[in-house]
Amino acid sequence: MNGFFPLVTKGREDKAMKRSRIWFDDGSTILQAEDTQFCVHKSVILKHFPTLNDFVPSQSPGLPSSDGCAIIDLSDSAKDWESLLIMIYDHLPTCKTTDLIPFRTLVAMLRLGDKYHGHSIREEALRFLRYEFPRDLDDWMDVWGTKIYPYPESEFDFINFADEIGLHSVLPAMYYTCIKYEKLKDIFYGHLNSDGSVTRLSPDVQACLVVGREKLAFALKTHTFSWLYNKKIIPCPRCSTKPECTAARNQLIRRVWMPVPNISLALDLWNRSEFASGLCSFCAFTAEKLFHSGQEKLWNELPSYFGLPSWDKLEDFDDSGSSSLL
Ligand SMILES: [Zn+2]
Repeated sequence: MNGFFPLVTKGREDKAMKRSRIWFDDGSTILQAEDTQFCVHKSVILKHFPTLNDFVPSQSPGLPSSDGCAIIDLSDSAKDWESLLIMIYDHLPTCKTTDLIPFRTLVAMLRLGDKYHGHSIREEALRFLRYEFPRDLDDWMDVWGTKIYPYPESEFDFINFADEIGLHSVLPAMYYTCIKYEKLKDIFYGHLNSDGSVTRLSPDVQACLVVGREKLAFALKTHTFSWLYNKKIIPCPRCSTKPECTAARNQLIRRVWMPVPNISLALDLWNRSEFASGLCSFCAFTAEKLFHSGQEKLWNELPSYFGLPSWDKLEDFDDSGSSSLL
């Protein structure tokens, strides 16, 4: 790459073009998006986007660049192409490794992979998204940290993007993550980003999240921590320290529900020192068993809390019919 060239050539008569920092002197094709040109190798691009040639009609004979390369005029965002080309030439991240992927690149991979039939790029991006927001509880419990870096400024970016591309199977985990981390104020009024812009949610999504939040608060009691509310369970029949275990149970009730129900615990990993502190080994064993079975019930019901269809009916891309990627 030759670095950034501020304002160099005119690719079109009506618009000044600038060269991107992705500019190879030995490139054979110029991709042109918005006011930016990228000089790349046709064979490299077609390897990832086999149908890009179909978009060449605008590359009329009257549009050769000053250095003789064919120009492909695209209607996409320059930022999308820049994010993607950097990865194509440097290193395309893969989900099964320790690779991290910038959110901006993930978006570009899905948008452009979908439009130009870049199946492998699109599927890899989907793997990253489905890793972060799985549809199986076991996968959810296995997620350790995030593979998306830089992460978007708010969970709203994920939700809006999933809506844009018609990805529905990720929504329950995405909505849950959102109400776990985002404030109600931001859900209603939008998240103020560092550049001063505001990311907002649609009124429908706002309603889903608020209703879901309330239902999750109830599900804490009926599922994940159901064992705290039945005096026949804790202390359990084999318990030999009933007063101590009763006190420990009451203390945990206060920790989970005071000052407000802590819904982030609903699908948290079992933590013995946190959830079974002060319980005898028999009561702790019972508590852990019921904690896990309660979470399974909650996970099965999770889509319904947000007014979504059940897991098995949450189909992706049903609008575009691209179900082959499921
Ligand atoms: Zn006990």
